[in-house]
Amino acid sequence: MPKRRTFLKLTGAVGGGGLLADSSVAKTTEEVLSRTETPSVEEQPEVRVIGTGGTIASTEGAADDGGYDLSERAEAIVGSVPVLDEFVDISYEQVAQKGSSSLLVEDYVNVAKAARQAERDGADGVVVTHGTDAIEEDAYFNDLVLDLDIPVAFVGAQRAADAVSADGPSNLVTAARLITRREFHLKDEPSGVYVVLNETVHAARDVTKTHTTKLETFDSGPAGPIAVFTDNQLVLYRDPGSYSADLSDSDLDAMSDLTVPIATTGAGADAYLIEQAVAGKYDVDGIVIQATGWWGGIAPEMDDATEAALEKGIPVARSTRVHWGPMNPGYDPEPDSIVVMADLPAWKARLHVIAALPTTDGLGDTETQEAIRDTIKEGGQYGKGTVAPSTL
Ligand code: ASP
Repeated sequence: MPKRRTFLKLTGAVGGGGLLADSSVAKTTEEVLSRTETPSVEEQPEVRVIGTGGTIASTEGAADDGGYDLSERAEAIVGSVPVLDEFVDISYEQVAQKGSSSLLVEDYVNVAKAARQAERDGADGVVVTHGTDAIEEDAYFNDLVLDLDIPVAFVGAQRAADAVSADGPSNLVTAARLITRREFHLKDEPSGVYVVLNETVHAARDVTKTHTTKLETFDSGPAGPIAVFTDNQLVLYRDPGSYSADLSDSDLDAMSDLTVPIATTGAGADAYLIEQAVAGKYDVDGIVIQATGWWGGIAPEMDDATEAALEKGIPVARSTRVHWGPMNPGYDPEPDSIVVMADLPAWKARLHVIAALPTTDGLGDTETQEAIRDTIKEGGQYGKGTVAPSTL
């Protein structure tokens, strides 16, 4: 057992108040104290580590081509950070061992099933070890489909496990610290899915990777991070919890085989992919358009093809390629018009459509389109899934 002091220092339960309040979080001194000095969930919480692969599970030394080799499973990478044993009890489930760009929707589904199982087994939280390239996709998918009382923290690493500047160990410790904190165990709503790197906690919905190689790569844009762990504090910026829609009733087993391609606009972009779908030569369950700006404009050929796809009853969703900011949701959209995906990037919009489609099974074309639209939540920068009304 660790000395109590060590444990409290690690989990951030000592060291004074660190809440940087904004209008949506606690304001009174009493609330601030209760949120910054609340001790941990319990002294030795149980954490289920779900391994999927990624650089955090890789070593340079094992690769013979100068790259990384996926040489380590979750148990080994956690075992290389002995301090974890001092404040959490750990069990393991390895659901994949791949680079994250090779993970399938089926793998994401298996992560969700393993997280549900962890809760049933009595775990206090889940840590998913993951490649950083697609961590935000898997985390967002899981935030949509999970409705757990326990928090789920996705962690990765920008550097291999045997690199001089390996960041996996520190990221694992931060994720375990999150599980120990009461602030991330919510009573009346899901405890949320987070992406945790560089001592920073991000909401799965808002986070994105912004730099290919830097340690400081994950950013939540205007929404900002949920929290930062300092050496001995938890500093909260936003309310912990899920900022995603609730699709936990959707059928996980129906999602893996859905085909939802992304069609990207550009100057004079052709509409081959969409036209093939309209012609019945490419069997799709939906299409996501990666469009431009606030209006979501696209190349003329794509515009025409999109109209034809909607007329044919293919669900079509529109996202913006701009990094941050909402899209114009349209004024009183027709039931069968294109679904505007708020500020979700195309890769998250695609997973949203995949997670929502089983809930529309058996509905007609127009209803399918409308049912997906009903699940869209606006961006977190305006608070928990709400958009402030225009004052203009
Ligand atoms: N190739 C890695 C991945 O699986 C990159 C990383 O983990 O940082 O996403």
